[in-house]
Amino acid sequence: MDETMDAASCIFCAIIAGRAPAHRVYEDERIVIFMDLFPAHEGHALIVPKRHGENLFGVEDEDLEAIMRASVSLGKALRAVFAPDGIAVMQLNGAAAGQTVFHYHMHMIPRMAGEPFGVHGKNRADDARLADQAARLATAYA
Ligand code: AMP
Ligand code: ZN
Repeated sequence: MDETMDAASCIFCAIIAGRAPAHRVYEDERIVIFMDLFPAHEGHALIVPKRHGENLFGVEDEDLEAIMRASVSLGKALRAVFAPDGIAVMQLNGAAAGQTVFHYHMHMIPRMAGEPFGVHGKNRADDARLADQAARLATAYA
């Protein structure tokens, strides 16, 4: 993947269109929320606008508003399901900042006190675990 990736070759566009699998938590007309495949911590989820935009500077204001509102709802669901000590909200712009998928997304990562911090996990998560987490978050999401 590179920074010129367009919607046709974008993995998140493929997920949004149903052409690629994902463990979805929530969806409405503007956004979709699904579990990160390489979680930095159990419960790591991504809030993604349906309209392709590469980063913070390519997303419509209305979508940014929807994402911000969703972050509060997802944060409450993460607290209810995982009881973390904290929740990191992260969003990377450009390869130099660590961005690897060039379709805007907001990371929400439960954190436990004293644990080492990172935004990218090393291992692909087990699908059954992600499915279970997505289902529990979907139930708690409001
Ligand atoms: P970033 O480095 O901010 O661009 O983060 C991209 C995130 O997308 C990483 O945390 C990846 O683990 C995650 N990711 C990549 N491909 C997929 C996928 N097919 N389904 C879910 N998450 C993915
Ligand atoms: Zn895309």
